Amino acid sequence: MTEKKNIKIIIIGGGLVGSLCASFMGKRGHDVAVYEKRSDIRTAKLSPGRSINLALSHRGRRALRSVGLENEILKTSIPMKGRLLHDLTGKTTSIPYDPVTNEVKFKFYGDSPTKLCIYSVGRNFLNQTLLRAAEKYPNVKLYFNQKLVSSNFNQGTVTLLNTNTCETYEEVAELIIGADGAFSSLRRLMQQTPLFDFSQKYIQHGYVELSIPPERGHLITPNHLHIWPRGEFMMIALPNQDNSWTLTLFMPFDKFENLKTEEGIRKFFWETFPDSIELIEENELVRVFTRLNNPSTLVSVKCKPYHVGSKYLIIGDAAHAMVPFYGQGMNAGFEDCFLLDDLLGKLDEDIQKTVNQFSESRVESAQAICDLAMYNYEEMKSLVTKLTYRIRRALDNA
Ligand code: FAD
Repeated sequence: MTEKKNIKIIIIGGGLVGSLCASFMGKRGHDVAVYEKRSDIRTAKLSPGRSINLALSHRGRRALRSVGLENEILKTSIPMKGRLLHDLTGKTTSIPYDPVTNEVKFKFYGDSPTKLCIYSVGRNFLNQTLLRAAEKYPNVKLYFNQKLVSSNFNQGTVTLLNTNTCETYEEVAELIIGADGAFSSLRRLMQQTPLFDFSQKYIQHGYVELSIPPERGHLITPNHLHIWPRGEFMMIALPNQDNSWTLTLFMPFDKFENLKTEEGIRKFFWETFPDSIELIEENELVRVFTRLNNPSTLVSVKCKPYHVGSKYLIIGDAAHAMVPFYGQGMNAGFEDCFLLDDLLGKLDEDIQKTVNQFSESRVESAQAICDLAMYNYEEMKSLVTKLTYRIRRALDNA
């Protein structure tokens, strides 16, 4: 019998991917320390972050299932059986994800080839659940307010800053995983090493989140991802557990300039998204846009390889941040955790081989997902509009 290896692992970042990765590594029996620069979102008053809810799909679910978390997450998520397109007159067309049955199993936890749906899940709820799950492993420790500031790739160390005391200290581990997001500090350090390719692209569109309050949530068709495609821009809505909805308006930055005055805001929404006004309320629209400083930006990141030396690896957005139009950023990051776990098992916990093979096998497919996400932006903005007309024409002629 081979002796069980107990590896010391450091994970930088306790966001969605880092906290899930901690469970995977904890389950393998390794000694895991997660260093997160923010305070603990389970106790912090305000948890700043991007989108309030996210679409969870097959890739992500498979990873959650592997660490026994799928059911817990799905129970508090909302199934979306298809896209519901809103045209300029307020008419809607449903495009089911499962064209065969157009059904959704509301308590659907398994895999089925014909009953397809995706799930809307709250970011904070998900992150909190993942942190709680990781912490249940006695061999996993979470450290908050600890920021990675540098790394010595030759010595295999990382330097962390305790943002409470402003003291820095060094840590060493056999495997160091950067799950520190699109603006990853570990990746920035890796970029200074030879033969590390890196590129990033900001798209010329920003986004702003709006919401439909719980008391008006029933006014919009349930169990759909709603889309208001308008050619150059679009708005989407995903449901929340409390009956509210989160809307996201994606638009070129220069168009947001028209939303600086009360008159401009009202005119824009009446002309572009008239059926959304009774859902959000006109005064609320005016309140949000007149207080808005800048819309949030969207970046796509590609790099290669995902490892440096024999023990440094990046996963999730740190390795492949993508624009959100394919709803796969988090799902792909969760899949990274699944694949890393699988490789560790297959390669008998050999770290050097694992990080090498992870890079080799993952870069191409992750970059393909980044490209698909960019492509789906075009699809959601304009192709869906064409599709709506085609479907409507077919129905009219039927
Ligand atoms: P993050 O969530 O960014 O977490 C990184 C963590 O690292 C953070 O907690 C951060 O504080 C910490 N950190 C950063 N630097 C340091 C440091 N130096 N030291 C220590 N800690 C550090 N994906 C989907 O799959 N489905 C969707 O529907 C979807 N919708 C989206 C909508 C929008 C508007 C956006 C912007 C993204 C969306 N995504 C979606 C993508 C998804 O949000 C990301 O892919 C996901 O959050 C990546 O998780 P992560 O853990 O890699 O990075």
